[in-house]
Amino acid sequence: MTIPPINVFRRTKIIFTLGPATESEEMLEKLIRSGADVIRLNMAHAKHEWTRKVIRRIRAVSARVGRDVAIMMDIKGPEIRTGDVEAPIELKPGEIFDFTVKPGSGDGENAEEIRSVDVNYRDLVNDIKVGDTVLVDSGLIRLEVLSKDDVRIRCRVLVPGALSSRRHINLPGVKVNLPAFTEKDRGDTEVGLEEGLDYIALSFVREAADVELLRAFLADKKSKVRIISKIEDQSGIANLDEIVRVSDAVMVARGDLGIECPFEELPVIQRRIVNACISQGRAVIIATHMLESMITQPVPTRAEITDVANAVYEQSDCVMLSGETTIGKYPYEAVQMLDKIARRIEQEKPEELRSPSVFTGDRMQVLHSAVVLANQLPHSKLLTFTRHGFMANGLAALRPVHSPILAFTPAPEVFRQLRLLRAVEPFLMPFSSDPDATIENAITVLKRAGTIQVGDKLIVATDIVSQDRVVDSVQLRTVR
Ligand code: PGA
Ligand code: MN
Repeated sequence: MTIPPINVFRRTKIIFTLGPATESEEMLEKLIRSGADVIRLNMAHAKHEWTRKVIRRIRAVSARVGRDVAIMMDIKGPEIRTGDVEAPIELKPGEIFDFTVKPGSGDGENAEEIRSVDVNYRDLVNDIKVGDTVLVDSGLIRLEVLSKDDVRIRCRVLVPGALSSRRHINLPGVKVNLPAFTEKDRGDTEVGLEEGLDYIALSFVREAADVELLRAFLADKKSKVRIISKIEDQSGIANLDEIVRVSDAVMVARGDLGIECPFEELPVIQRRIVNACISQGRAVIIATHMLESMITQPVPTRAEITDVANAVYEQSDCVMLSGETTIGKYPYEAVQMLDKIARRIEQEKPEELRSPSVFTGDRMQVLHSAVVLANQLPHSKLLTFTRHGFMANGLAALRPVHSPILAFTPAPEVFRQLRLLRAVEPFLMPFSSDPDATIENAITVLKRAGTIQVGDKLIVATDIVSQDRVVDSVQLRTVR
């Protein structure tokens, strides 16, 4: 077997989560230079002061490096947690244990000396049924509900473990009655909007209405921030199509999905979400545990390499790092590893995809012909002009086989948002009132950047003015 050359252009985008391991100016500079496209702030762990500081720092470093990245704020959404414990509680197999919903209700009156912990969610007793499963701390500890009353849920420990303070609780298949966009989310979002964000990732999206709540909040603030819906539980999967439709992008949040669903379903669910997104023309992110072992080791496992490759084969838009870059010992190596695997796998013939089902309008038909043409012409490049991102998004959703999508926009926020889209290389440039001059200017910029060379075939998808009418067009140009 001959090893094909690795080309310079990577189609799959890289997201990394910012944390102690990566927040320094030096590390940020290194990661932005080496091709990270989107930086994620996980608000489950972030204070407002830190958030403001790092957003400003990212912008400053990007400006210095000359490469703007997108910033994603990941707000934690409805989340159930255990309360504080003085020392970790060692839960034993078969032990009877209580979750209490009113602070203090576990104390004193417990004649049988059943141990207990508080939960931050009052209505838990109403949502949960006898026989349900309670998973604590990323699913490490498993309990079964035996009985409940107004203030306590009595469980039996099935899989033991040490329960420390403020552990995350998952309730597989239980429809939790918590608000989709909490007070904390609102506060976090406000800080983000003040500092300037590009994407908000909403956690535990269960139905389209959850997204619409955030959409209305953003509209009220006149914000153009785009929404990423995190699919993390069984409701999210049940309502997948409607959620995809109202979202700008979707994250396959495998950390929680792998707890909320039977684990052998996870690869099936991942593929279903990716296909639903491609079919509706929405960007899709594969997240969590991609290179988990690199938190402590400089090289990933073979299984992790294959998992990243699988995401690329599936033609997802982005792959994402979490712990690897927040607390990991090898954050730079992890980003490089994603880059290397993606470039290599992109050399392979991609799976045939069905055309996106939503693309029926005239403009989308024009984009479709542009991509058909690009696929027929080796070494061709797609060129588009987009004020709101629509054209670039449409081309990306059509998954051109080998052509990059060179997308020009006059809007800085659109320019950064385009970083998320597969195969899109964004350029910021003011548009001339004459569309033809805009195309010429873009070609000059691309030649100067070395992105295109004399003789290259460019397929230009854009609107042009013809006898005072704007018409959608596809042009084939050879660079001179
Ligand atoms: P989290 O979301 O890291 O905020 O939990 C991602 C996931 O669950 O995979
Ligand atoms: Mn999660």
